Amino acid sequence: MDNVKVNALMLRATDYLDNDKILTLLTAERGKITAGIKGVKKAGAKLKFAAQPFCFAEYILAERGGRYTVTQASECESFYELRTDVNKFYAACAVCETAIALTYEGDESGALFSDCVRALSEMCSGDEGFALVKFLLSALRGAGYGVSLNHCPQCGANLADAEKLRFNLDTGTFLCWDCGAGAGASGSTFKTLCAADGKAEGEATDDGKKRALKLLKEYLIYKTDARCLSLSEYIKLI
Ligand SMILES: [Zn+2]
Repeated sequence: MDNVKVNALMLRATDYLDNDKILTLLTAERGKITAGIKGVKKAGAKLKFAAQPFCFAEYILAERGGRYTVTQASECESFYELRTDVNKFYAACAVCETAIALTYEGDESGALFSDCVRALSEMCSGDEGFALVKFLLSALRGAGYGVSLNHCPQCGANLADAEKLRFNLDTGTFLCWDCGAGAGASGSTFKTLCAADGKAEGEATDDGKKRALKLLKEYLIYKTDARCLSLSEYIKLI
């Protein structure tokens, strides 16, 4: 039996037997892994915190035959604020479910790990909706599904001033209304995405954040097998 030390974010905990849980952890070192944790449903269990949503900790895992069991953990950050506000809670759950959907067990995912920790930290202290838009853009780009926020690829027009645009789900590209076909998108969606991407012409509005999240959800579902249940719930709340 080997001991492995990882920095990890607790993405999902599922009940197992009477007192145990199975955790899905996103680690900086080994990508997404599954690990059992014993006795955490008992009152006063020492490692209870390590099975809480959004726990960011250094986990010590015992590895045997490719299976992991958590034996120790020391918390780096609990992101406690995310559990005290229902909007922040669902936004943070949307980060975790997206990370699960975009990763395969054992694949390297250090960039996604950093994106997740940054997003949860921004959600604690600020606007969780804008942090979620930023996170989804970055996570999609990392997974090879970048959203292009440039000029119209057909005619070269500057899209920052357009009121109505089109979004091509196949290519992840915005176009002028008259140049493209398919789903429409608003100017406020485009400007909010630009702001989240750090572009000077960007401007985030409440309406734009909601629309941008709806568009990113549709795109995620189109490109991956994500179900986006928490993201849907968050969009309903705002
Ligand atoms: Zn055009």
